[in-house]
Amino acid sequence: MEVTRREFLKITGGTLAGSSLALLGFTPEVALAEVRQFKLARATETRNTCPYCSVACGILMYGLGDRAKNAKTSIFHIEGDPDHPVNRGTLCPKGAGLIDFIHSDGRLHYPEYRAPRSAQWQRISWEEAFDKIARLLKKDRDANFVAKTADGLTVNRWLTTGMLAASASSNEAGYITHKVIRSLGVLGFDNQARV
Ligand code: SF4
Repeated sequence: MEVTRREFLKITGGTLAGSSLALLGFTPEVALAEVRQFKLARATETRNTCPYCSVACGILMYGLGDRAKNAKTSIFHIEGDPDHPVNRGTLCPKGAGLIDFIHSDGRLHYPEYRAPRSAQWQRISWEEAFDKIARLLKKDRDANFVAKTADGLTVNRWLTTGMLAASASSNEAGYITHKVIRSLGVLGFDNQARV
């Protein structure tokens, strides 16, 4: 089909005006919905919990790159989870900025260890970190667990170690954490979400 210069200008002018008006919100809902769907269409959606405070709002994280060989996963969009009973899709400004926290240069991605009297942190594996934590917990509990008081009262308490759980835990994870820690005899236990 031949298009004259005049027709060409009419078509491109009309298309530009249409898309600009759509971005300004002067078009039917469908136009805006299509833009949004395109943005998230190929993304992987993952549910999670905002880690910042004890409100524990539900979030949806959208990432690309985890389906293809040699591709690096990257989260590019986060929004409130409309199905979550706590926040029903809303997020406070801090939660709405979570994407910057995820991609922050200062974010720690692996365990680090600083030896006593050392000024240097060294990277260790998760295995080493778990081993170290378990060994130190056992050593402290063996040395300080109190089964009975001086007058023979059974107390089974361990007062020299405390535990702070994260608000990002679900109710179930919080319940299990509570059971494990209390069964060890720990009394100093708290959680941002006060489980
Ligand atoms: S979005 Fe805001 S209110 Fe909700 S858990 Fe995160 S910091 Fe707390």
